[in-house]
Amino acid sequence: MNNRLLIIEDNEQNLYLMRFLLERSGFTIIGAEDGRKGIEIALSCDPLAILLDIQLPAMDGYAVAAELKKHPELDKVPIIAVTSYAMVGDREQILAAGATGYIEKPINPETFVAEIMHYLPKDRQTAGEK
Ligand code: MN
Repeated sequence: MNNRLLIIEDNEQNLYLMRFLLERSGFTIIGAEDGRKGIEIALSCDPLAILLDIQLPAMDGYAVAAELKKHPELDKVPIIAVTSYAMVGDREQILAAGATGYIEKPINPETFVAEIMHYLPKDRQTAGEK
């Protein structure tokens, strides 16, 4: 069963922590360090969901989300924004750009996996099991 999650994140430490927590729960993680690569991988790896940093080099998360949404084959793939932006309006802006949900950094290792699962398709919310 597909348990691949794509993480688009330019910060190595953030990627490492998210990868660690999610792999420990049985997910397979594919990392991309910028938006362009992330979009390319999203179109080829059939991810269960896409975790998207907002502050990215060259192409920010808003632009990445908008681009991902242009592809009908990704229609049912949730985009979960993971960002330290916490100002009023940012949440609305990333949701308007196409994100399904929003998780704030710094991530809480105790609740992170449960928060991600909340956005997965119903039949995968117990996921992680192989
Ligand atoms: Mn970043």
